Amino acid sequence: MNNPELFARASDILPGGVDSPVRAFRSVGGTPFFTVRGAGAYLTDEEGRRYLDYVMSWGPLLFGHAPAEVLAAVREAAERGLTFGTPTAREAELAEEIALAAPHMEMVRLVNSGTEATMSAVRVARGFTGREKIVKFAGNYHGHSDGLLVRAGSGCMTGAVPDSLGVPQGYADCTLVAEYNDLAGVRALFRAHRGAIACIIVEPVAANMGVVPPAEGFLAGLRRICDEEGALLIFDEVITGFRVAYGGAAERFGVRPDLAAYGKIVGGGMPLAAYGGRRDVMSLVAPLGGVYQAGTLSGNPVATAAGLAMLRRIRREKAELYPVLEEKAAYLEGAFRAAGVPVGRVGSVLTPFFAERAPENHAQAAACDTRAFAVYFQKMLAAGIFVAPSQFEAMFVSSAHSGEDLARTAEAIEGAVAAAKCAAEGGRV
Ligand SMILES: *Cc1c(COP(=O)(O)O)cnc(C)c1O
Repeated sequence: MNNPELFARASDILPGGVDSPVRAFRSVGGTPFFTVRGAGAYLTDEEGRRYLDYVMSWGPLLFGHAPAEVLAAVREAAERGLTFGTPTAREAELAEEIALAAPHMEMVRLVNSGTEATMSAVRVARGFTGREKIVKFAGNYHGHSDGLLVRAGSGCMTGAVPDSLGVPQGYADCTLVAEYNDLAGVRALFRAHRGAIACIIVEPVAANMGVVPPAEGFLAGLRRICDEEGALLIFDEVITGFRVAYGGAAERFGVRPDLAAYGKIVGGGMPLAAYGGRRDVMSLVAPLGGVYQAGTLSGNPVATAAGLAMLRRIRREKAELYPVLEEKAAYLEGAFRAAGVPVGRVGSVLTPFFAERAPENHAQAAACDTRAFAVYFQKMLAAGIFVAPSQFEAMFVSSAHSGEDLARTAEAIEGAVAAAKCAAEGGRV
């Protein structure tokens, strides 16, 4: 079957033909390709077509697809059994490896997805503080748990509105939403809900409304507000962990959260995530304390093998890895800027924005020209380059992207941006 046939078949049985919405290409049109394998920086689809990949499974693949070391660890682990339901030595090894990179991870709990990690961290923060409300930022994504699928209605002070059907108003009412990079808005929420806010949860680099870096002093400001108000600061490092620095955004921006959530890279491409932080706070997690959280496959032996191989390789190579990734991503940023497209970038995650300037918050990001983006996306795809099929996602650069790959990408960017701008001006594409 070719890609459209596979998609038709999938659409009959899977909602939208996919298991995660953005994979369906809805915001750029057309039908997705179906992958049969990944190797290095490339994907191959069911029709035998090859794509230079900048989606990289949406973040986990810092070394590209199918890195030999991780595959070997997975094979070896799988030979011994896929799941045991007992502790394994590797769980503590992986947790220690995370703590090496992020010393504020004094205690760690392994889970299966970023959604679980953030959801659980918020529960722990509520349990610790005895407070119910939380502050999140418009345009920050923390997975799909009920209380986190909420963004601002109109203005930070008005009632929250759930982004999804099926989210009870009661959950939404507990979620207060501020604009990203707006400390005054956060302070106003704390004034209006004095003593009721358990935590601030934030993407320390916003990467789910396109890449929007934190403004100078923003993260430190959140730290200060939490300290003054007796609330906990939770960094959602699901994308930024081991990505923007070895120690994630906490290291890169020099701000220490109370709790942090990890996912994506930390599982080396397997379904594994983690949350953790202050020992006194994490001591509340069952069976030590009264915050319940559990998982049949949590700390799965195959997943921890992948994560451990990944993090050990990162630790070994970090001195060279991060500067090289930075350089590669800066090269792509330069290509977009040369074509007249502003870019949000931190380390090896970046987003070209079809707008006058790179946004600093959700309101500005939402104003981007998504039609122009769709034209750019299709032109890139036609050139054999797969970028995220949405304006509000990131490009992920890996160590597997070669100089030649990048040069070819820069060339494609020039043409794709020209076509997008032409379409935006109402010209023919
Ligand atoms: C991907 C992501 C999540 C959710 O992780 P899943 O593994 O998809 O559940 C949470 N937070 C951020 C910042 C993410 O990018």
